[in-house]
Amino acid sequence: MRSHPESIMFADIILPIPFDSFTYLVPPTLQPTRDLRGCRVVVPFGKNKIYTGVVLRVHNNKPEGVEMKEIMEVLDEQPVVNEKQFAFWQWIANYYICPLGDVMKSGLPGAMKPKDEAALKESSRKRKGGKNNLFHEDATATLQPLTPAQQTAMGGIEASFKTKNVTLLHGVTSSGKTEIYIHLINNYLEKGKQVLYLLPEIALTTQITERLRHVFGDRMGVYHSKFTDVQRLEIYKRQASPTPYQLILGVRSSIFLPFQDLGLVIIDEEHEQSYKQQEPSPRYHARNAAIMLAHMFGAKTLLGTATPSFEVYHLARKERYGYVQLTQRYKNKQLPTIEIVDTKEAKRKKLMRGLFSPRLIEAMQGALDRHEQIILFQNRRGFSSFIECRQCGWTPRCPHCDVTLTLHKKTSTLTCHYCGYTTRIPTHCPHCTPSPASLPPSLPSSPVHSGVSAVPSPFLPIGTGTEKIEDQIPQLFENATTLRMDLDTAKTRLQFERIISDFAQHKADILIGTQMVTKGLDFDNVSVVGILDADTMLNLPDFRSYERTFQTLSQVAGRAGRNNTPGLVILQTRSADADIIRQITQGDFWQMFRTQMEERKLFHYPPFYRLIYVYLRHRDDQLLDHLATDMGNRLRTIFGDRVLGPDRPPVARIQSLYIRKLMLKIEPQASIDKVRQSLLTIQQQMQSLPVAKNLNIYYDVDPL
Ligand code: ADP
Ligand code: ZN
Ligand code: ZN
Repeated sequence: MRSHPESIMFADIILPIPFDSFTYLVPPTLQPTRDLRGCRVVVPFGKNKIYTGVVLRVHNNKPEGVEMKEIMEVLDEQPVVNEKQFAFWQWIANYYICPLGDVMKSGLPGAMKPKDEAALKESSRKRKGGKNNLFHEDATATLQPLTPAQQTAMGGIEASFKTKNVTLLHGVTSSGKTEIYIHLINNYLEKGKQVLYLLPEIALTTQITERLRHVFGDRMGVYHSKFTDVQRLEIYKRQASPTPYQLILGVRSSIFLPFQDLGLVIIDEEHEQSYKQQEPSPRYHARNAAIMLAHMFGAKTLLGTATPSFEVYHLARKERYGYVQLTQRYKNKQLPTIEIVDTKEAKRKKLMRGLFSPRLIEAMQGALDRHEQIILFQNRRGFSSFIECRQCGWTPRCPHCDVTLTLHKKTSTLTCHYCGYTTRIPTHCPHCTPSPASLPPSLPSSPVHSGVSAVPSPFLPIGTGTEKIEDQIPQLFENATTLRMDLDTAKTRLQFERIISDFAQHKADILIGTQMVTKGLDFDNVSVVGILDADTMLNLPDFRSYERTFQTLSQVAGRAGRNNTPGLVILQTRSADADIIRQITQGDFWQMFRTQMEERKLFHYPPFYRLIYVYLRHRDDQLLDHLATDMGNRLRTIFGDRVLGPDRPPVARIQSLYIRKLMLKIEPQASIDKVRQSLLTIQQQMQSLPVAKNLNIYYDVDPL
């Protein structure tokens, strides 16, 4: 076939690198047999790289003055990305100001590498050899009848869906929100519609999966981030096939699955921060993105929580979202009693034993005597442990990042939580003691925790994290057994689930944990919850700290007394008189919301203003200073005093790159398209400066 010049075809291809797309020649052998949009292709890149990318569009506008390479291979017969997905990717790229390449990396499992597909074929071949899967085979349970209060709420949701696309279900813990979701899901599945049920990562436990599996059996697919690329690819392909799962129970990244006929999106624990992807780009909020996804399908969204985020509650009050309340707990289980203990007072009277007040010890002893269980909560942030030289106070820091190294007692190592740098605890302090000649360099470092080490450690462990609480228990309660759940003990999903199941089987009396213990867990035998220190959360330098403390502590409190007896929550604080503490103990969300909203309005914070952080990164601290100031000035010519900064963020260097942050406060009615265009124009100006060659600029829209 002869090809005429005007019939030469070009393809814009998204590659897994931080750019939108690159134009390639479509070789004559491939045209014009079919439209390649949405198909994966293999292309050469630069001098000797080869990438797999996705064809965004095919056209015949020859780009000017660019050297053109040819597509090497087309991997798919049929598109693997459908039109709705493209629209959704583009929305994410636009709204979160990030390149399409980044969105594709999140949107396609493992960039759908060909080697994974080989593994997938192998695994499905093996499975076919086994039992013959029938649909619904696992569905054993029928629906539980709803209580009158739940029926009313259900009716409210259905009525709200007639006029509103998004509805908030504001129901106290244990009111049966999940039961209502199950009924709703069932209705949509019966109509032949697909449902997406989103949960935060740590709330997606075996408990909830089993509960839904009983009702929906094989119609449900589960999708979480600890899956291998092959497992994710398997679900992805199934969703694109003629027989997709009708229900997906998944974490934030499941919004990128291909849907065909989405009718309902449920976002449970909508207030959860972990719905926001912080790193890497795209820094999207799965709740907000899922609302957009639902909108593209004409589907409805139900947001559920006991403690709404201000953003959502604000929209519900303005009647942009529908609002349904559920104030009764199932079987009228009583809410726990929350008692405040003033630790300032107790400390003054020298009554504190370590981190424990007499009242907390008494309540815990009572529970132990009755063979009941206890949860102790300690906020994670600001509580990682480190070591300090006994002589000079020197603390080891990460050589690549601006943070102290975290102590891991069990392995006698120090780790950077930002870049993963790990080192053994040094044998001597490099700051005040030059390497002692008597110690050969190969000598194993003395573990800090060991009481009987040959060489006494020159370092003192510092920190009051969950580990320290665990250490104090044996002195206070001789025979009590403990389990600890935090980032160290529950690194993997398996470890996390084991701790939960061990505690549920009463293999330990006391569970000590961070935020992780607050999520959707049902323990029948927990009668006392101790919050060791409410102040660290309240005092975080963040305009959301009160909102978050209220949310977290209400959720923790909800773990107490879920069975027959009301639970007891002991809340220790140095600011016993603060309004926020009273609002938490009385569960007075409305008062908390009202007072906080006044401040938000006054200081131009969300939900009254939209925040955009502009980050600049560079190896050279001084040059970066100069560039950040320059960019700030350029932004001010357009945005005026809506620009704040530049500042050094709390962690001002990560992986050897220095960081500066500029903040933009934008009126909510401003056009996000215009804002993005202005930002990108200034970014281009900056990056075309000869001195700014390796300057990296990125954005965090609606940061959390
Ligand atoms: P929430 O999601 O609001 O925290 P759940 O749906 O988990 O509440 O309900 C709390 C407990 O009460 C669960 O163990 C659930 O099985 C039970 N429950 C709630 N509603 C019903 C119902 N209508 N019939 C039977 N059990 C119910
Ligand atoms: Zn580091
Ligand atoms: Zn020292």
